[in-house]
Amino acid sequence: MRKTAFALLVFAVVAASGCNASAPSNSAAATGIDLAGMDKSIAPGDDFNAYTNGEWIKSTPMPPDKASYGVFAILADETRKQTVALIQESADAGPKASEEARKTGDFYSSFMDEAGIESKGIAPLKPRLDEVAAIKDRRDLARVVGSRIRADVDPLNATNFETDNLFGVWVTQGLTDPDHSYVYLLQGGLGLPDREYYLSTTPHMVEIRNKYRDHIAAMFKLAGVKDEAARAARVLALETKMAEVHATRLESEDVKMPTPWKQDELSAKAPGLDWPAFIDAAGLKAAEVLIVWHPHAVTGLSDLTAKEPLEAWKDWLTYHSIEQAAAFLPKAFVEERFNFYGKTLSGTPELRPRWQRGVDFTSAALGEVVGKLYVERHFPPETKVKVQAMVDDIVKAFGARIDALTWMTPETKAKAKAKVGTIKVGVGYPDRWQDYSSLEIVKGDALGNAQRAELFEYRRQLAKLHQPIDRGEWWMTPQTVNAVNLPLQNALNFPAAILQPPYFDPAADAAHNYGSMGAIIGHEISHSFDDMGSQFDAQGRLANWWTPADLEHFKAAGEALAKQFDGYRPFPDLAVNGHQTLSENIADVAGLMSAYDAYRLSLKGKPDRTADGFTGDQRFFIGYGQSWRGKNREAELRRRITTDGHAPEEYRADSVRNLDGWYDAFGVMPGQKLYLAPADRVHVW
Ligand SMILES: [Zn+2]
Repeated sequence: MRKTAFALLVFAVVAASGCNASAPSNSAAATGIDLAGMDKSIAPGDDFNAYTNGEWIKSTPMPPDKASYGVFAILADETRKQTVALIQESADAGPKASEEARKTGDFYSSFMDEAGIESKGIAPLKPRLDEVAAIKDRRDLARVVGSRIRADVDPLNATNFETDNLFGVWVTQGLTDPDHSYVYLLQGGLGLPDREYYLSTTPHMVEIRNKYRDHIAAMFKLAGVKDEAARAARVLALETKMAEVHATRLESEDVKMPTPWKQDELSAKAPGLDWPAFIDAAGLKAAEVLIVWHPHAVTGLSDLTAKEPLEAWKDWLTYHSIEQAAAFLPKAFVEERFNFYGKTLSGTPELRPRWQRGVDFTSAALGEVVGKLYVERHFPPETKVKVQAMVDDIVKAFGARIDALTWMTPETKAKAKAKVGTIKVGVGYPDRWQDYSSLEIVKGDALGNAQRAELFEYRRQLAKLHQPIDRGEWWMTPQTVNAVNLPLQNALNFPAAILQPPYFDPAADAAHNYGSMGAIIGHEISHSFDDMGSQFDAQGRLANWWTPADLEHFKAAGEALAKQFDGYRPFPDLAVNGHQTLSENIADVAGLMSAYDAYRLSLKGKPDRTADGFTGDQRFFIGYGQSWRGKNREAELRRRITTDGHAPEEYRADSVRNLDGWYDAFGVMPGQKLYLAPADRVHVW
């Protein structure tokens, strides 16, 4: 939930990207508004999303290789084109490229060498399959399961709770100990996105489960594993048992649930798994204390490793060994993987072009090498200066909103001001780049490169243990179209790739920049003060700095917003979950309010010009609405409502209904569909 302004990359392997449509041309209109994409026949007060985006939604076909599409995906496509050119230059430069740049070229060209990959068949996967086949007892099982653990989840920054390894690991400072790094251990093991997919009895979910079982069988068959139907049934049965002990998506958001366990307490607190063998194989010996995010689930999963048949566990490991490697194996594996994760789970008819997948894998493996090249070419220093100034304005506006709160006591206000005053803002790229010199990239070894890169990242994360905390650490690459709030670091990252049109145009109208990029900046700042962020203090420590009465008022405002979002029902059998999306919705509303204040302050008391037939305030809100332009396939929308902390785009655009200024700007009247009486408008901050 927190942090990410968008959630489209969660299943990046299957979802994002790939068409030739271009971004709305803002350069033609200095206002930055896409007039042609609006539907002015609709009253803004009835459906603000349709008013700002209706023509675009009607006239833009969903690209066949996408599950969702919109302004975010369009910019991500543009960025991917910029990025592939940089990687290709490195590949073409041969020995003339720097050692780091050579690695990006070799990683990418190894992935693009389809003929080479076909000719090897499943040979590159063989060592991992043999390792599983050789498991003779529960100790071997613990050892292999441990060796597969990676740093692949992130419960607070990216809010990524999904891993098909038995557990996921995240490494950062302690929840109540900001001076030391800890290993966080999360539940895992599922191939479907969430426990709901195993336990729900709706026809949609039952159908997905049946197709998942067929998919597992198909993967076994491709890899030459016999008795595939029976094995697939065993894998699904085992994962269903795992799902039964898993926490729900909403429970995973509860920062009161994680519990520190000493390493030598694991066997007593979660009996079943051979923990010493696991810890040794996972390279976790240096973690004397682990913060167990899902204590109940970790206990339950450990128990299953002792009670379920060893053969079922071996089938499960075999299947996930194949699945995790599939993107780097011959075409038949790639297509079968897409057939399930792309078509069935997200409703996407076509696999996106190989080069796009290659760019994303290269960007994941060598993120800051690609990022450095990207920034040098595409992120001018003057943009950094302008965005920094805009961030400062919005931080100030947020501080002024705290001062003006009538319900908050001076005591709590002082703590809130201290927190907003110490937020560390990263714009464009990190101050220090990561060192990739120990990562070995071998030309022609596509799967080996990907496996080594994951292990390299895992070891890099573990190496943070017993080292000083780096509050300047980045959690997104510069070439990522997104932004993130880091509650434990009390810090924000705004990657270079989102700081370009249509979100931010250094030459464009202030109203548009504040409504679009300004609201995203405000959103990330506000995450420090949403229902979860507000539980962390200025040092990033989980600590209550609220007076009881202030906290009660704040919670009541959150409940009102949750209720507003519970009322959105995109399908008769599925509504938005107001609590699951509460952090994001608080961040949207509070972020929009502080961006609006900052925009008004930037006018210095003078009225803004009218342009394209709109006042400055109208352009601010239209800019906001158009920044949420997007559409989803039905399966994808259902997946997101079930697993995502973000509400669907149209409801995020409609959050304007909580701002008094929006009513004035468009003359919104009682009786219109989005109208809220002044007392029902939620002003959290
Ligand atoms: Zn967010």
